[in-house]
Amino acid sequence: MTNATQRDPLAFIGAELDDLRAKHLYRPLRVMSSEQGPVVTVDGREVISLSSNDYLGLTHHPRLKAAAVEAVREFGVGPGAVRTIAGTMAIHEALEAELAAFKGTEAVLTFQSGFTANTGVIPTITGEADLIVSDALNHASIIDGMRLSKAPRKVYPHADLAGLEAVLEEASTKGRPDGAGPYRLILVVTDGVFSMDGDIAPLPGIVDLAERYGAAVFVDDAHASGVLGRNGRGSVDHFGLHGRVAIQVGTLSKAVGVLGGYVAGSQALRDLLVQRARPFLFSTSHPPAVVEACREAIRVMEEETWRIERLWASTARFKAELGRLGFDTGHSETPITPVIVGDSEAAIRFSARLFEEGVFATSVVFPTVALDQARLRTIVTAALTDEHLDRALATFDRVGHELGLIAG
Ligand code: PMP
Repeated sequence: MTNATQRDPLAFIGAELDDLRAKHLYRPLRVMSSEQGPVVTVDGREVISLSSNDYLGLTHHPRLKAAAVEAVREFGVGPGAVRTIAGTMAIHEALEAELAAFKGTEAVLTFQSGFTANTGVIPTITGEADLIVSDALNHASIIDGMRLSKAPRKVYPHADLAGLEAVLEEASTKGRPDGAGPYRLILVVTDGVFSMDGDIAPLPGIVDLAERYGAAVFVDDAHASGVLGRNGRGSVDHFGLHGRVAIQVGTLSKAVGVLGGYVAGSQALRDLLVQRARPFLFSTSHPPAVVEACREAIRVMEEETWRIERLWASTARFKAELGRLGFDTGHSETPITPVIVGDSEAAIRFSARLFEEGVFATSVVFPTVALDQARLRTIVTAALTDEHLDRALATFDRVGHELGLIAG
């Protein structure tokens, strides 16, 4: 066959991209050339950042940087192997012990990311004899974790305790669909804070129901780590539910400012994950700089309490002011403040105009959120000053009027 007649087997990729562009769903990457912080340089422009998950401003904290540099000097740049071969360093174990003490659990196991924590733990602890019960808006990594499990799953409407109870009632009375008796484990899985809307899971109600039906609770605290609870201990601490939530997943990539995920629970859970969790077994562990920066972050979170206080004070002000300007900020209860525009094209244009005016607020469109729920997703981190907030709000006001998104 000649080149001229050879069909490109990957031609569908171009067609798919054309389709995304036609629907205004194609998202080019913005490129940052500065460090993270309240003001960043993105695509060559200096802008106020409302787009990172750097809640506490730790990504660029001098103490974390110094800890990372020192770790490189002492331990090198790479861990050299997966944890189960030769990649477990004393500092990995130290970080896990410190995280367990911070969370108030028996044990912690770290993963390369929050994503791999979820895809590691869910299929390890569930199988054919179990049932996973999942909130409809759970994170993609929970969904992928469930897909990797042999367990059947039931989805309940978002944050709907009556819906959850109906599923638990049916599961506990009927048992396994093949008539093979009761489920070995019913695992109720929820995000602690939902990452697109910023609402908090109704965890006390979930825990009460789980206890009534003999189920275990799994909470993914990616957006609650460093944000909710004492010094950012998470949603379990926030609601006073210590000892009643079997498994907590956290991330080290957002408020903690570095990279990674962890599973906090019993020693037996940790022991099993070490033997079986596939990302842990088959992917190399964290490099020393990451581990030591995470350890320093925990100390900073314990000592510099002004950061979490500032985060919540700025959030309250930002939400109130946006509401006063006439924007729809949804029903967030946390520093994640959506500015809901509806139409994808309008959200992308709004974000682009704000960017030109010096404010970096990323748009989030389908499939991350529903087609008619396109939005800007903002977080005002502890690193932003009042002056930054004033400038950002004035820009929202001006551009919002210009694009007809707010009246008056
Ligand atoms: N779970 C939730 C709820 C998240 O929002 C995220 C991050 N988008 C993750 C897990 C993944 O965390 P990481 O970035 O550490 O992989």
